[in-house]
Amino acid sequence: MKDFQNFINGEWVSSPRTFENRNPVDNSVIGLVHEAGRSEVDAAVRAARAALHGPWGKMTVAQRVELLHAVADGINRRFDDFLAAEIADTGKPHGLASHLDIPRGAANFKVFADMIKNVPTESFAMTTPDGGNALNYGVRTPRGVIAVVCPWNLPLLLMTWKVGPALAFGNTVVVKPSEETPATATLLGEVMNEVGVPPGVYNVVHGFGPDSAGAFLTEHPGVNGITFTGETRTGEAIMKAAANGVRPVSFELGGKNPGIVFADADFDKAVAGITRSAFDNSGQVCLGTERVYVQRPIFERFVAALKERAESLKIGDPYAQGTTFGPLVSQVHREKVLSYYAKAREEGATVVTGGGVPDMPASMKDGAWVQPTIWTGLPETASVIREEIFGPCCHIAPFDTEEEVIAMANATPYGLAATVWTSDVSRAHRMGAALEVGVCWINAWFLRDLRTAFGGAKQSGIGREGGVHSLEFYTELRNVCVKL
Ligand code: NAD
Repeated sequence: MKDFQNFINGEWVSSPRTFENRNPVDNSVIGLVHEAGRSEVDAAVRAARAALHGPWGKMTVAQRVELLHAVADGINRRFDDFLAAEIADTGKPHGLASHLDIPRGAANFKVFADMIKNVPTESFAMTTPDGGNALNYGVRTPRGVIAVVCPWNLPLLLMTWKVGPALAFGNTVVVKPSEETPATATLLGEVMNEVGVPPGVYNVVHGFGPDSAGAFLTEHPGVNGITFTGETRTGEAIMKAAANGVRPVSFELGGKNPGIVFADADFDKAVAGITRSAFDNSGQVCLGTERVYVQRPIFERFVAALKERAESLKIGDPYAQGTTFGPLVSQVHREKVLSYYAKAREEGATVVTGGGVPDMPASMKDGAWVQPTIWTGLPETASVIREEIFGPCCHIAPFDTEEEVIAMANATPYGLAATVWTSDVSRAHRMGAALEVGVCWINAWFLRDLRTAFGGAKQSGIGREGGVHSLEFYTELRNVCVKL
């Protein structure tokens, strides 16, 4: 049994209250998580504040870069520990976690460490009213103590995507991992100590959202900024907390992303791309595709091909050779996804494949399994087309014209990502301009260059992170005006 304690000021801190952490493969208990109360959260924020003024705050950029590289190396050194922890928490296939989650977890520190070596600053020479001269120049300072509130779908990857830049730009952090996935954030505390990151720079408090560590942290007046990834509705609650003290927020929220396949697309590549965007990580990717639109001449053929792909996914033990499809993260999430499977049937969907629970061996019967699922035949008003499910499922609808599919794709309060498949270059650019999203992939999906802006339009987020865009949130820009 693991014991997931809070990590405050470089030390392990237990709590009187604990809750169970379960493995979604078989619902077995992995460990106990120490739920931080107000006093632990307060201690973490105070430690983070003190660290700003300690050795961390006095480091040169070069020293900080070196230390963050050491953190990345520390993750890589303990790669197998991180891998095992992430797989136990999420049930995701070994192949996926070893190629995506853990390497990106390490890369997030290296990329942002290297980025701060080249931070641009602005300067403006001006003429003063008395005919003299003055020089303005920008100075970037860390924002201060950053609260990092994380989801469970890509726990290490999405957490370090925030912690990497926050630390690179000289801030300190208090991380609140998802209650479903406490393991890798905890393990990172060990790495921080191993490589000599000063106490208080990286803190972890465990717990839930409302009336728990999440709310205590985001309400805490000692927090200077809140970066959050999760559901749009949670974002609304956190924004209310942030209003107290006018603290800035950076939000990466929910989505209901369209996948659009034109008849001129490379058919096989489009099928492979939509297979990934609908079913990777068992559909639990914010950028995933739950609405697929296929141009009418290839509609029937596309539905048949995607069905074949969905049915050939290898469901099972994350460690088994060739497994490509794991369980959902928890029983609670499984209930939610299955409720949408039922709703789709009630609303008259044609179930092309799936729609239920796979037949699992006895050892995994109690896991959070659902079948990869494809529907057709629903009107655009149906619940499974309007609402984010966050499961391995998609609805496929036919369309005729570019204008029609743009209107359908944009008819949602969300605006996170889109994936478009076409071989017409002009059309590709028109779609990139017309779709109301933060990220638009053409003939690709989840292809990330960490220097680019990442975030959601409409109700899918506030602000952009990545590359120099992270500067805007993780630093204050001061203008110094010198009369010469
Ligand atoms: P969630 O909103 O339920 O929880 C996210 C985190 O917020 C958890 O740590 C939770 O404990 C905490 N929390 C919940 N209520 C809170 C409150 N009132 N105050 C403070 N903290 C609170 O999200 P989830 O179920 O963990 O993740 C799935 C969601 O995340 C989906 O909507 C998905 O689209 C979204 N997501 C978005 C992105 C993106 O980049 N836009 C990436 C991944 C996931």
